[in-house]
This record gives sequence, C-alpha cells and structure tokens, in this order.
Amino acid sequence: MNIATSKELFERAQDYIPGGVNSPVRAFKAVGGDPIFFAKAEGAYMYDEDGNAYLDLINSWGPMILGHANKQVEEAIFKAVIGSPSFGAPSRMEVELAELITEMVPSIEKVRMVNSGTEATMSAIRLARGFTKRDKVLKFEGCYHGHGDSFLIAAGSGAATMGIPNSPGVTEGTAKDTLLAPFNDLEKVKEVTASNKGEIAAIIIEPVPGNMGCVLPNSGFLEGLRSLCDEEGIVLIFDEVMSGFRLAKGGAQEVYGIKPDLTTLGKIIGGGMPVGAYGGRKDIMDFVSPQGPVYQAGTLSGNPVAMAAGYAQLSYLNENPEVYTDLEKTTKQILEGYQKVLKKHKLNYTMNQIGSMISLFFTDQKVFDFETAKSCDTELFGKYFRFNLENGVYLPPSQFETWFISTCIGGEEVQKIIQTFDQFLKQSQ
Ligand code: PLP
Repeated sequence: MNIATSKELFERAQDYIPGGVNSPVRAFKAVGGDPIFFAKAEGAYMYDEDGNAYLDLINSWGPMILGHANKQVEEAIFKAVIGSPSFGAPSRMEVELAELITEMVPSIEKVRMVNSGTEATMSAIRLARGFTKRDKVLKFEGCYHGHGDSFLIAAGSGAATMGIPNSPGVTEGTAKDTLLAPFNDLEKVKEVTASNKGEIAAIIIEPVPGNMGCVLPNSGFLEGLRSLCDEEGIVLIFDEVMSGFRLAKGGAQEVYGIKPDLTTLGKIIGGGMPVGAYGGRKDIMDFVSPQGPVYQAGTLSGNPVAMAAGYAQLSYLNENPEVYTDLEKTTKQILEGYQKVLKKHKLNYTMNQIGSMISLFFTDQKVFDFETAKSCDTELFGKYFRFNLENGVYLPPSQFETWFISTCIGGEEVQKIIQTFDQFLKQSQ
C-alpha cells in the first residue's frame, strides 16, 4: 500500500504541531507505524491522501453513526452555512435542538450547548459543585471524561493509551478533590462515600464505558449508584458523550432504566461538527448563569451550523428508531463471526458488545473494569491494528477504545472484518 503522501504530511506536521497531531491517539504511538492522513470519506469508507480506501470502524470516534457524508446532515450544514457560519447571538436552531434533546432524553429537562464533550463534563462538575456547595467528585478508574483537570486522574482513552492516566500539570489540590473507585465495584463506592461524608458533590460515570474498550455495567451497579446518590445528596452525572443517542434514542439511561440528575453529551449531537451539551434536572440547570450563579459561557456555543448538523442527525434517529435494531444486528454479526473464528483457532480472547459498541480484548480474562482491561496484550493489539490497516480496515489505534459501527456497514463489510481477523490469526500462529 502506497502511503507516501501521508508520510510526507506527517513529517511536515511534526515540525509545527506537537507530535504531528491534534489529539494524541491519532499519532499511532501505541500501535506503531505512522498515522494516515485522510482526504475524504463516504458511507462506510474513508480515503487517504494517496487514494487508499479504508473500512472505518472508528467513525470519528462515534459521531458518524449514519456513516460518512450522510446526505441529510450534509444538506443541513450547507443550508446553515450560507448567510453566516456564526452569529454569536441566539438563533432558531438552538431552540429546536434543545427541544429535540429533551424529548429524546426525558431526564434532561433543560440543556446548555457547548463545543465539546470536555466542556460539557467540566461545566457539569462546576454546576454540581455550585449546586451542592461541596468540592469533591468521584470518578471511576479507566473512565474518560475529556481532558479537564479534574478528570485526568486514572483516566482511560488516550491518557491510558499514552501511559499518562495522571497528567503532569494537574495541581495537587485538584487531584485531591477527585476520588476514585473501580468500575462495577459498588462496595468500594460506598466505602469512599462514607469516608468523605457530606463532601462529595458528584459521582460522574460513563454508564457504559467505551474508553477502556467497551465495558458493561454489572446488573445492579448503576441502580446502586442511583440509590446512594439519593441517600447522600450527591449529583449523579451520566457522561453519555459516547453512549448518548448511540445505544438507544435515550442513551444508556434508557437501556438501563436509570434517571441521572445530569447528563453530558457530545459526538452524535453534532453530526460531525464540534458540539457538546450538558443538561438534566431543571432545579439544578437553573443554577447556570444567567439564570443562576454558576458561570459558564462560550463564544461559539449554539453555533448555527453545528446546531443544524446535530438537528438533522438526531431527528433522523428520532424518526427512524429501527436504526438501533439494525445497528445491533450488524454488530452481533461481527461478534458472532469473531467468536467462530476464535473457536476455530482455539483461542479464548474476550469480546464485549452492546448495541453498536464492540471491543475485542487480547486477554482470556473477563473485562469488567480498568484492571482487567489492562491485562490485555497491547503489543498483539498493535500487530492486529497494523494488519487491519494494511488490509484496508481502520480500527481505533488503541486497545483501550471501543469500535463504533455505523449504519453504512453492511454484509460485505462484516465479512471483510471477520475474514481479516481470521487471516490475522492464521498468519500469527
Ligand atoms: N466523555 C466521554 C465519555 C468521551 O468518550 C469523550 C471523548 O471521547 C469525552 C467526554 C470528551 O469529549 P471531547 O473529545 O469532545 O472533548
């Protein structure tokens, strides 16, 4: 495969951009090789600067649930961009998107638009602190909530991939206010809560973590958190930046039937444009400025182009709920295909899947938290990643990331993904 132009661009990029990329995992450091530079994408495929096609299992880390260059989303963007790409003042689309989000996610009574998932989680935590007049937050090891200081403690995703789950630059004072517990360990959460009684503002969690690979909550775990938060006056925040509108119209909270106090959103709500949002109980959201005293603002927040893209994508999902059954069907075909291949090769690697999120873990252990995720053979994952790339399949360049399936992935693509896995195991034995 000729990737000469990507190589040339990467060399130039390294002179002017730290590590040559604008987000760390893109540099392929954990999997080896040089990053590919992309020129365009359509449906299930992305095309690099040298014209090579790749079947895309990242889908921009989740937003492109309807595949690349979806006509409805594209048309909404084109229409919105003519006139002015930014007013810095209120516009109709913000209202319509806010109404649609509150309709699709009933726990969200009011919502504030921001520009990324990181902004959403940072703002939600400030709000929870302002509302409860408490300082501490509890997060789970291996969960990633963006790169806000409070969250770069035992963080998953790129931070785990780069081996810097606790980033330099986060002050001791900030780190001290972030408490930790292992995912799926309710007893530990109760212990930490008891020893910090009356001091915890919020428990923030990815209800279905995708940032240590895809991990599922054990039965009763999320329910237990809900009860504990009710008993202790703690704000329960579901970070659904990944799972929101992906696992169901109403996200993981619909699937598991739990109502958080606040929800953070991103990715899918922008249809590929940079958007985030946080929302939830009206009495809490009314603490946000200018209604309340907790300050949060944004020059480009509610940007009309981003709102239009998000509205087009969400309204499609709202009006076509069969998308979710179709996505699950496709993802299960991949899961079952992989399981057959593993059986054939007498291997016992773990796979986790829910809806259109799926992960292959190169370990025989069940993966249910960060410790078990870390038992994976990351070197073998690197080999698997590079084998896929050479064969035109683009996986997330890290063992600690989930794969996202789009509606454009059909039977032909499923076969290609499974065959590539079979060939990889054949040649590596
Ligand atoms: N929260 C979760 C669960 C995420 O997966 C991410 C990003 O992957 C974020 C927050 C941060 O979002 P962003 O990268 O848009 O800042």
